[in-house]
Amino acid sequence: MNGDRHFLTWLALSTAVCLAQAASAASIAVDVGHYLAKPGVISARGVPEFEYNLRLAREVSAALQRAGHTVLLIGGDGLAEDLCKRATRANGMDLFISIHHDSVQPRFFSAWEHEGETRPYSDHFSGFSLFVSRLNGHIGASLKCASAIGAGLRQAGFAPSRYHADPIPGENRPFADEANSVHYFDNLAVLKTASIPALLFEAGVIVNRDEELRMRDPAVRQPMAGAIAAAVGACLERRGAGG
Ligand SMILES: [Zn+2]
Repeated sequence: MNGDRHFLTWLALSTAVCLAQAASAASIAVDVGHYLAKPGVISARGVPEFEYNLRLAREVSAALQRAGHTVLLIGGDGLAEDLCKRATRANGMDLFISIHHDSVQPRFFSAWEHEGETRPYSDHFSGFSLFVSRLNGHIGASLKCASAIGAGLRQAGFAPSRYHADPIPGENRPFADEANSVHYFDNLAVLKTASIPALLFEAGVIVNRDEELRMRDPAVRQPMAGAIAAAVGACLERRGAGG
């Protein structure tokens, strides 16, 4: 009798857990910024941005999957040269996240010697930032998730960058949510061509010598990926609940 009651309690609890997972499960496209032929920013130590993007995108994908979400990794093979086709692969999903690592304007660069090579670097700026496009048809949902990610990262101890809003040529990206380092960047191809909520994440500034070391440290990337996954789950769940 006791055993039956325990079984029924267990059954009720497991059903509740399954329902909770089903209610909050979402489908997310994780886009690896750039591709092998044009790998993006070259870091202070000569490593292409694409390598950093791929590593972090895989970790974000794994964290989302662990939380019960469905993930489509886009551009992981390094061959996705047509930026406009990337977002269309995510049609029907709940969110598109493009993962990048950042640089700064040319005027801030100096040179240093690293492993026998003279390389450009800039230690002026650091931190993460997020971008959304007002040309995307779901700017409200895009901004909500970008803000949630920024807030989650700050709570996990990551510092936002602020320099993309500076009123200088090449920057001048107005804040959409200043506290959480979210900017408007309307003409970003992958964001404006997406038919679903979309955001672009710059994890850190890899032309900054210290920040590059942090970005390659699993002890930094893992909590970053975890904070992103938790924030995405929360913002999509609230959206699903009509919040
Ligand atoms: Zn990039």
